Amino acid sequence: FPQKRIALFGSTGSIGTQALEVIAANPDKFTAEVLTAHSNDELLVRQALQFHPNIVVIGDDKKYAKVKAALAATDVKVFAGEQALEEVAAMDCYDMMLAAIVGFAGLRPTLKALEIGKAIALANKETLVVAGDIVMQKAVEHRAPVIPVDSEHSAIFQCLVGETRNRIEKIVLTASGGPFLGKKPNYLVNVKRDHALQHPNWNMGAKITIDSATLMNKGLEMIEAKWLFNLKPEQIEVLVHPQSIIHSMVMFEDGSIKAQMGLPDMKLPIQYAMAFPGRIPNDFPRYDFRKPSQLSFEEPDVKTFRNLTLATDALFKGGNLPCVLNAANEIAVYAFLRNRIGFLDMTDLIEKTMEAIPFIEHPTLEEYFESDAEARNFAASAIKL
Ligand code: NDP
Ligand code: MG
Repeated sequence: FPQKRIALFGSTGSIGTQALEVIAANPDKFTAEVLTAHSNDELLVRQALQFHPNIVVIGDDKKYAKVKAALAATDVKVFAGEQALEEVAAMDCYDMMLAAIVGFAGLRPTLKALEIGKAIALANKETLVVAGDIVMQKAVEHRAPVIPVDSEHSAIFQCLVGETRNRIEKIVLTASGGPFLGKKPNYLVNVKRDHALQHPNWNMGAKITIDSATLMNKGLEMIEAKWLFNLKPEQIEVLVHPQSIIHSMVMFEDGSIKAQMGLPDMKLPIQYAMAFPGRIPNDFPRYDFRKPSQLSFEEPDVKTFRNLTLATDALFKGGNLPCVLNAANEIAVYAFLRNRIGFLDMTDLIEKTMEAIPFIEHPTLEEYFESDAEARNFAASAIKL
């Protein structure tokens, strides 16, 4: 197992900090070569002092001087600004990028890494939702492996080891259902941010926690799965499984089903992606089949959680529609987090934006960027942000 140099893009986030725990537990296997943050300069500095990376990037350039001063006694190189994220991604100083920036902002650095053939451990699902065809095309062209970190996709990836992808009949993405499982619109209309931020099974960043409460997360994951595993939309199913023990399943053309299971803990898929094609022993808690427990399954309530319907529509129609859906969703979630719109308003805003932005069947990368910007502008002005 040669030591892998990891570039952690989004090291201060929920995924980033858990990846650093994995690195700290396996110093002979991994080093943190690059760390990047957006605004959390204090945590970035603490991480740099602990892990001695070659490079750190602080996205917010107003914080450059502070970070530089705090690391003056070290030989860590400090960069700042959005452009620096791309420049560092394009440097041949690491073996694998952990793409753990949240949202559309993660797309450009990941494209740069792919262009120099770097392996990607992909947490940032928005990258594939926005421009999955171009991202996967670049990966093939530059022979850059893309290993999923998202737990459902890690599950499917693990089920497919040793299998031929064209033998897949369908995949089943499991969904916890989030904190509002079983609730109806008359309840959801009054839901506030702090309540929506309480997820029953996972402790995650704010954006994905809201996406889990609205089921948009599962919608984004359907689109992510389409690109990762080269599937037809009709091969992708969603099933609510509140215990989050089965992380997803694959049914093959002979009817055989494989599932990957375990306690919900993101460190496992993070570690798996970083160690692939190997596995690493650890002391994470184990699921115990002998303890009384029940694994249950139900259909998602797509009438109440209409985001899943909108995302399914984007999945089937393709083109720039998933990109528009994603942009409108990012605006909606941030507005909801700032108490500017209600829980159900998020869906209405996304739907309106999807209707407003002109459809492009085969967008270029530039057209994806334009559709993203147009959708953001439309959504932001619709709610007077
Ligand atoms: P967090 O919000 O916890 O962390 C996001 C990270 O990205 C932080 O390091 C943040 O920096 C940085 N960041 C935020 N905005 C920008 C920007 N505009 N430019 C550059 N960097 C930025 O998110 P999570 O860790 O929860 O999620 C990261 C990604 O992984 C998301 O795409 C999510 O969907 C996916 N994912 C997460 C899971 C989880 O369990 N958390 C599970 C599956 C997928 P700073 O903190 O300094 O502002
Ligand atoms: Mg997931």
